[in-house]
Amino acid sequence: MNQAPGFYRYKVGDITVTAINDGFARRPLEGFVRNAELADVKKAMEQAFLPADALPISFTTLVIQNGGKTTLIDTGNGDSGAPTSGRWMANFKAAGFDPKDVSTILFSHFHGDHINGFRLKDGTSVFPNAEVMVPSAEWAFWMDDAKMNAAPEAMKGAFGGVRRVFGPIAKDVKQFEAGKEVVSGVTAIAAPGHTPGHTVFAVASGSGKLMVMSDTTNHPALFVRNPEWSAVFDMDGPQATATRRKLLDMVSADRMQVAFYHAPFPATGHIAKSGNGFELVPVQWSPAV
Ligand SMILES: [Zn+2]
Repeated sequence: MNQAPGFYRYKVGDITVTAINDGFARRPLEGFVRNAELADVKKAMEQAFLPADALPISFTTLVIQNGGKTTLIDTGNGDSGAPTSGRWMANFKAAGFDPKDVSTILFSHFHGDHINGFRLKDGTSVFPNAEVMVPSAEWAFWMDDAKMNAAPEAMKGAFGGVRRVFGPIAKDVKQFEAGKEVVSGVTAIAAPGHTPGHTVFAVASGSGKLMVMSDTTNHPALFVRNPEWSAVFDMDGPQATATRRKLLDMVSADRMQVAFYHAPFPATGHIAKSGNGFELVPVQWSPAV
């Protein structure tokens, strides 16, 4: 049985943001948090009323509509993810969008769950008219043959995946530096640690502001609550933790609306201080945009 289509629209000033869900994947808890005891992770799951055996990690990309342009931030799993993912295109179309109409795609970083939606397994490019913009630090890392050859065997697949997606269009990819407005109303901010070029985005229009936190945290019930915890996906644990602390401190102090790629749908809310960590307070669902 399916739910109604998984999209949710909200405004940031004059900009319309649409969250598009791409399903979820179950991640066994054993070994998932590098620097916490399994018993403590299980306790956090219990406190959040989540399953005791595996974490349901959801995927939510954003569509940014501003001044007649349609920009995506990340593209989901495409046909390369878990069987419980791969809902993205159906939800995107149900929201009234067509892949042909996408003018720009911004990638936050190059993990498969963020880039594989750009190219199907058979090589088909999904967004024929989109310019592709990527963080220069991310490109420099993953496209470096020396880094790939020196990587542990378990990471070689990730390098191969990046080349599968971007190889055929490598010469057309536009690299951006952090600190720049990359498309109108969207500024890239360096947030390294999860990956070397991991990027978050400040979306601003008038008095409206949204911080797109990308993978600054994985599931908020674990990593917003416990910002010192580091998931195995954080390539540089200590750096990711420092980035996470800094950004969570900032958005909570500024009472800024946030969006997270791996928060429960529609994956947007605000960050409140709570104990030694924080809490994601989801927005109230609104029937009208
Ligand atoms: Zn991710």
